[in-house]
Amino acid sequence: MFDDIDDMDEFRSRLRTWLGKTLPEGWAEKMAQSPLDEMIAFQRWWMDERRKVGLATPHWPKEFGGQAYGLAHELVMAEEFARAGAPSVGAFIVSVIHVPATLLVWGTEEQKRLYLPGVAKGEIWCQGFSEPNAGSDLASLRTHAVRDGSDFVINGQKIWSSYSPYADYCILLARTDPNATKHKGITFFVMNMKAKGVVVRPIRQAPGRAEFGEIFLQNVRIPQTDIVGPENEGWKVCHTTLAAERGVYAFEAVERQRYAFEQFLDRSQKSQANWLQDSQHCREFMHLFTEMQGNRRLVRQLLVELASPLNNGSVIASIVKLLTTTHRRRFADFCVRTREVEGQLYKPGLEDHIDESMFEYLHSLGGTIAGGTSEIMKNIISERGLGLPR
Ligand SMILES: Cc1cc2nc3c(=O)[nH]c(=O)nc-3n(C[C@H](O)[C@H](O)[C@H](O)COP(=O)(O)OP(=O)(O)OC[C@H]3O[C@@H](n4cnc5c(N)ncnc54)[C@H](O)[C@@H]3O)c2cc1C
Repeated sequence: MFDDIDDMDEFRSRLRTWLGKTLPEGWAEKMAQSPLDEMIAFQRWWMDERRKVGLATPHWPKEFGGQAYGLAHELVMAEEFARAGAPSVGAFIVSVIHVPATLLVWGTEEQKRLYLPGVAKGEIWCQGFSEPNAGSDLASLRTHAVRDGSDFVINGQKIWSSYSPYADYCILLARTDPNATKHKGITFFVMNMKAKGVVVRPIRQAPGRAEFGEIFLQNVRIPQTDIVGPENEGWKVCHTTLAAERGVYAFEAVERQRYAFEQFLDRSQKSQANWLQDSQHCREFMHLFTEMQGNRRLVRQLLVELASPLNNGSVIASIVKLLTTTHRRRFADFCVRTREVEGQLYKPGLEDHIDESMFEYLHSLGGTIAGGTSEIMKNIISERGLGLPR
């Protein structure tokens, strides 16, 4: 249905029609009140619908079931999905963004053929990087892997692993050489979450749902064929994963922000909200709105540059992450304050939906921490981008 359409107007129009026909009326209101299990089931259904028309993993190469879409197609998709208020990738974020970004660069042919079809069919993957004492300072991780014949035996603990209670596989960092310096001697593995010795304990986060998990690993065996990239070079491999997490997702996120602004203004006007009469609040809104438009342009420009092999991907991705997540947080804060008492009340909601402002505000805090905190992004930009001293 969407194969080989190079005319962007045609692509946009078909996409809009498909979204109009496929998205159920009132899904967002229903899902906002639903328990997490039902939300995940809905996200699975939505990814299945996308898959049927080739839109689950459209940026992948064709040989692995993608459409090989470049930036032009992705931009139209991001705009139209946001315009239609379509669900975000949710529980599939690691599967469709982190895993292919990493395997396509570092995986062996065998690993790509083994794992990418499962991802395309709807497996959920999680990321097991952070540990109780290794978040920003990830290289301090202590989970270790010891070679035993053709397997590695893993022991340790991971934390804050999004959607791990639902995951089929995990991309895992473990220390394989205890004598090497901190950033050396780490290896990147694929781990089956059903393997013996893997125990997941859900953690409820501030917005109210238990999307996170703590992963306990006791004598878990991983075959050496599930090492991604060279043994002891996992630090380099995980930077490919983190750059994907920090950069590409922002494309869709900035478009969602744009519609959140439009909806917020529309609802405020319909309800004759008090803040519209307050010049200071109006100035603040215009300031946030201008920044949002600036971020949209910047993300496009940066992603074009990111496609160039001459650029330092980690700095660009860090700029995108810092600007978009801090802006989202300030806008959510504005919504909470200007919606007065109603804005202060907590009700379960959906990410990026401003109707439940307090929920969106609490969710936005996580965005400035996940995938590297704002302070760490500033460090990367200043040290690697601007060459400032440490
Ligand atoms: C919504 C969400 C989803 C997440 N999903 C995952 C996941 O799927 N998989 C996974 O592995 N992890 C995940 N994480 C964990 C995340 O990567 C870590 O929380 C993050 O890297 C920060 O680590 P920390 O929590 O240990 O905080 P710490 O590193 O202890 O930081 C505490 C504070 O100190 C500051 N700080 C630390 N070091 C420096 C420094 N050098 N310079 C300046 N300031 C510094 C930080 O900015 C922060 O404010 C997720 C987190 C969130 C919030």
